[in-house]
Amino acid sequence: MGGILVIAEHKKGVLQDITWEMLAKGTQLASSGGLDLTAAILGANIKDLAEKLITGANRVLILEDAKLGNYNWEIYCEAVGAIINEYRPLLTLIGHTAFGMDLAPRLAAHLNIPLSTACIDLQIKDGGLAALRQMYDGKVNAEVTSSGAPSYMATIRPGSFSGQAPPNTGGEIKELTVSLKDSGRTKFIEYIEAALGGVDITQADILVSVGQGIGDKKNLPLVEELASILGGRLSCSRPIVDKKWLPKEHQVGSSGKTVKPRVYLAIGISGSFQHLMGIKGGTIIAINKDPKAPIFRVADYGIVGDLFQIVPILKEKAKALKTG
Ligand SMILES: Cc1cc2nc3c(=O)[nH]c(=O)nc-3n(C[C@H](O)[C@H](O)[C@H](O)COP(=O)(O)OP(=O)(O)OC[C@H]3O[C@@H](n4cnc5c(N)ncnc54)[C@H](O)[C@@H]3O)c2cc1C
Repeated sequence: MGGILVIAEHKKGVLQDITWEMLAKGTQLASSGGLDLTAAILGANIKDLAEKLITGANRVLILEDAKLGNYNWEIYCEAVGAIINEYRPLLTLIGHTAFGMDLAPRLAAHLNIPLSTACIDLQIKDGGLAALRQMYDGKVNAEVTSSGAPSYMATIRPGSFSGQAPPNTGGEIKELTVSLKDSGRTKFIEYIEAALGGVDITQADILVSVGQGIGDKKNLPLVEELASILGGRLSCSRPIVDKKWLPKEHQVGSSGKTVKPRVYLAIGISGSFQHLMGIKGGTIIAINKDPKAPIFRVADYGIVGDLFQIVPILKEKAKALKTG
């Protein structure tokens, strides 16, 4: 094949955003290099998902097996390894997610393929791979080049590319059969959903995010109410979580969640690089009393002032717009 292979990621019957993001980058790499783009999907009862994927690739490989119903690194390593060995892609893309972080290094070692992890951009140069990856918690972007191998592998940091299901490219779906062994050494026991407390900030369209400028836990309802009037969700910077004012699921940033809302309202947040690393896209509106706060360097709109004066005005305006 010699082209680009994207390993689709899905959870509970839903294709994950990272799949479309990888396909978007894969499409770009394939078209600039005159290569084919193939998506592979593995699991049980996944035919519907394979149909959806064909909008994003020239070919979809589907490997359906009850043994692939739940993630088990041994079986997935064998299955994805068999696909790579048969199709010999120039580049395999896997999400830098819990799934990909577990699978990719094992697979790369198993197949002896050079692996670049946590990539935020990729280029194919002279038959090799130039990967831009973040290091030291995002302080440094390093270009890591791999060359001289017939095949490369990279994990892609979620949110690095904007990905939507593209219009149908009319490709083919090919069903594969691989006889998979289950050594029984690794067993799937139970799927435990992260305790979101009803909050999944990664899926929110509007995020009202609060930082240390809020001063005290007792002031949180002020921003919580604004989030609710705007139909958005409440997120925060890390110190708010460290102080146990909000659960970890609300944290945006390098050690928190990566978010892609349409609107990100940063209230009393300075804009450290660790925080900004978690915001991918959308219109950023900042409220901060310090005109030199770094958040204003990335904000599309900025309000310099005291949040305790501004947020109540915003609440009133938003309420009036809703009722008016
Ligand atoms: C390894 C590592 C990982 C990290 N991961 C993350 C992460 O994932 N997410 C994250 O957020 N941080 C993370 N941090 C912490 C990060 O470095 C910053 O310390 C943190 O983002 C600062 O949070 P803040 O902006 O809420 O607070 P501050 O930096 O203290 O900023 C508060 C802001 O509020 C403003 N302000 C104060 N009072 C008011 C008022 N009344 N009205 C308006 N504005 C006001 C101030 O001018 C200031 O700009 C990490 C740090 C490390 C070392």
